[in-house]
Amino acid sequence: MPIHEKSLIRPEDLHTHDELEIDGIDVSGHWSTFIESRAITDYNEAMEDEIAALPGGANIHRCWQCGSCTNSCTVNAVNPDFNPRYWIYLIRLGMESELLRDKDIIWQCVSCNKCTYACPRDVEPEGVMKATAHWLEMKGHRPKSPSILFDEVFSEQVFETGKIEEGRIIRSFFERTGQPLMQNWLVELVKRIVRGLPIQQMMKMGLATIFRPRTKNWSRARDAIAEYVEEQEANHRKALSLDEPGKGEERKAV
Ligand code: SF4
Ligand code: SF4
Repeated sequence: MPIHEKSLIRPEDLHTHDELEIDGIDVSGHWSTFIESRAITDYNEAMEDEIAALPGGANIHRCWQCGSCTNSCTVNAVNPDFNPRYWIYLIRLGMESELLRDKDIIWQCVSCNKCTYACPRDVEPEGVMKATAHWLEMKGHRPKSPSILFDEVFSEQVFETGKIEEGRIIRSFFERTGQPLMQNWLVELVKRIVRGLPIQQMMKMGLATIFRPRTKNWSRARDAIAEYVEEQEANHRKALSLDEPGKGEERKAV
């Protein structure tokens, strides 16, 4: 699985000499560009299995590196460093330190699923991106991403009432991520929604915000969900060996 993409050579690995002469030939500047060679000794052989054990990651072993996911990726179109194919390559080889260089952008997948439709091997790269972001957070390599915080706010509300109230979700999400509630795009969005909504519907929404209706007999369903979530979390922690003595310290900043 060779890497041919020129963009994958990190700027810090390129070296030039302002003044250099070799065998009497002036190769100063651009002519003396060298790519630093690297010997990798820190393979993490468990990384692929760990990511495969998290939701969305199960089919990572099917990838044959065709690159269709990256070619079709919405985020790659605006940021060429966002490269699902490359990250899958690193994960499968266990090149953890190389993957960690991109830890701050992997979570930015917008779940458009274009990659999933383009993938000829049913790898479901969108799921792999989510599993990888999840893995980075569980291992303590980065704090919770806004995407995870949104999921948390959303699930907490469903868990509490069995219903979804968008206004409350947005408010809680902004609070948790330290964003101001009054944002131009949001004000504009609300204005347009209000303009197009029938009065009756608006009143219904207003009342729902105040009284927070709950789904009937929700407590039984909630207990079942809680049990399932707890079970899944325990499985994920086990897959990443997070509860083994000495492994917990790997979690740094979550
Ligand atoms: S789901 Fe994520 S990785 Fe896939 S194309 Fe969309 S942004 Fe890219
Ligand atoms: S499209 Fe599928 S098979 Fe091709 S590189 Fe991406 S994940 Fe791998």
